[in-house]
Amino acid sequence: MNKEYFRAYYQEHKQEHKKRKERFRDTLGELKRIKEELPCIDCGQAFHPVALAWTPKRGEGKIDIASIWGKKKLLEALGRSEVCCLNCKALRKLEKKPRS
Ligand SMILES: [Zn+2]
Repeated sequence: MNKEYFRAYYQEHKQEHKKRKERFRDTLGELKRIKEELPCIDCGQAFHPVALAWTPKRGEGKIDIASIWGKKKLLEALGRSEVCCLNCKALRKLEKKPRS
């Protein structure tokens, strides 16, 4: 294998990596749009996307949307989540905690 080959391989790989990153950014954009359109599921108020969070539906385990790569997996995870504002999310957490 020569230098040229490696360079070509690297370039190809770099392109592929870039494409994958772009696709992922598209998906993130979609997620943001979904948030912009949906009100909080608990209080029904519309919020800026930064004030909304993807929260697992009641009865679902913890879902870390931010750590999921791949559109298919992400959509599957979203199917088990709902959009909830940060206030309501905090209240949900409180509800879950056993009272002391
Ligand atoms: Zn809310």
